[in-house]
Amino acid sequence: AANLPASAIRLPLDMFQPERQNSRGVDLSDENTLKALGLTLRIPAAFGAQTGEAITNPANRQDTVGFIQATSVEDVKNVIRKAQDGFEVWKNMPVAERAACLEKAASHLEDDMPRLMGLIMREAGKTLANAVSEIREAVDFLRYYAAQIRREFADNKAVPLGLVVCISPWNFPLAIFLGQVSASLAAGNSVLAKPAEETPLIAGEAIQCLHKAGVPEEVVQLVLGGGDIGGALVADPRVTGVLFTGSTEVAKLIEKQLSQRLNPNGSPVPLIAETGGQNALVVDSSALSEQVVADVLSSAFDSAGQRCSALRVLCLQDDSADRVLTMLKGAMEELRTGDPSLPETDVGPVISSEAQAGILRHIEDMRARGFRIHQSPLEAECENGTFVAPTLIEIDSLAVLQREVFGPVLHVVRYQRDELPQVMKNIHDTGYALTFGIHSRIDRTIEDLKAASDAGNIYINRNLVGAVVGVQPFGGHGLSGTGPKAGGPLYLRRLLAHRPEIKAFSRRD
Ligand code: GLU
Repeated sequence: AANLPASAIRLPLDMFQPERQNSRGVDLSDENTLKALGLTLRIPAAFGAQTGEAITNPANRQDTVGFIQATSVEDVKNVIRKAQDGFEVWKNMPVAERAACLEKAASHLEDDMPRLMGLIMREAGKTLANAVSEIREAVDFLRYYAAQIRREFADNKAVPLGLVVCISPWNFPLAIFLGQVSASLAAGNSVLAKPAEETPLIAGEAIQCLHKAGVPEEVVQLVLGGGDIGGALVADPRVTGVLFTGSTEVAKLIEKQLSQRLNPNGSPVPLIAETGGQNALVVDSSALSEQVVADVLSSAFDSAGQRCSALRVLCLQDDSADRVLTMLKGAMEELRTGDPSLPETDVGPVISSEAQAGILRHIEDMRARGFRIHQSPLEAECENGTFVAPTLIEIDSLAVLQREVFGPVLHVVRYQRDELPQVMKNIHDTGYALTFGIHSRIDRTIEDLKAASDAGNIYINRNLVGAVVGVQPFGGHGLSGTGPKAGGPLYLRRLLAHRPEIKAFSRRD
């Protein structure tokens, strides 16, 4: 601690809520659990209204999951007017009551787990294990922010921003959707929630759950549609804060739009953006190959690589690269890519045919450039949906990657021991700084690489995905986002117009 610069901020340890517990899990190795889930996973009727725009299952394009009616640009005005009424109600509700609503919603989600898992698997193409963690993360967000306001805002003195727009992605259609919404609500704001066009039904269930738990209808409203609707929401001067998770390009557009006005108190309109990554894992020759292989598989191919945190570039020290690659390719042969509702499936579909086409184009482009490619097998049922085989591409330099490829595609580069500083520089030069991993059994190497990385989340001798709310607050810098981190102690403060004192200490030892 004595080495910290005088300006370093020390957060009081109790901000990390040591007494809090994360949500309970589901034992998927227990046959009886699987059997019980199997009975409820088969959902007979389509979700939502029975007319409108059809939402289809990415694993089986013949399967209509439900229908939605998109909100019109005209309706956006009415929705915002209603949200203003909602704000008057919600900001005056005592903090303990707001927290109780969020906690109740968390319990409803847990109780409804099998049905919601079925919907998440069908609408978003998630595997059984991913559907479980999706719901657990959503539950954790609700409870985490509720606990935080109980502890820190109990004097009812925190002043919320007002109307907050939440624009969320399809890759975590419940967890990130509810993460944004629950934080905004916890801070006392009225919320306009626009989920991704691909996953509106899960979002609809989440909003209903909040209403059932006591959040008034005008306080949290669902707004369905694409970029035109998102744009209309962000442009409205009555909106006083925006949470966005998605592409860096869209985050920049939102930032530009918001920079043209000020909030009523004269401050800029806050934007919390979580965007992409070009995440790397550096493996030196001291690393345990078996562990490396297991962690690489989950980091690159879990969720079909559709996580911002996913591993995109594996950097292997030349001395052990052949051994690791042989093992990795062997393990890829064993991955099962197919119907995500089968317990034995490891990798499900990608979200849409556009996503599939873009990823396949990248693979073909790399093939045409002469890079060596290895792919996992696809099961026969993949014909029915939008699948991409887990793919490993051996490239000669990080510089060949112009952009993030959001799918099950892993790039591998080799380096010589003395090239490590250059490797770190190349990673830094991508401009992204979301997740970074180190596999080494040499403490000095770990410390050096940690110091050289500017990623938001750094993982040592483990995988790069699955940040746990309250334990590993998640978010990055540069092209990867604005911070503060989701599921961490500072997030709610960005959602207030007046921030209660942050207790930070600064001293010279
Ligand atoms: N928090 C997630 C993880 O740690 C990733 C979130 C995202 O993809 O946006 O895997």
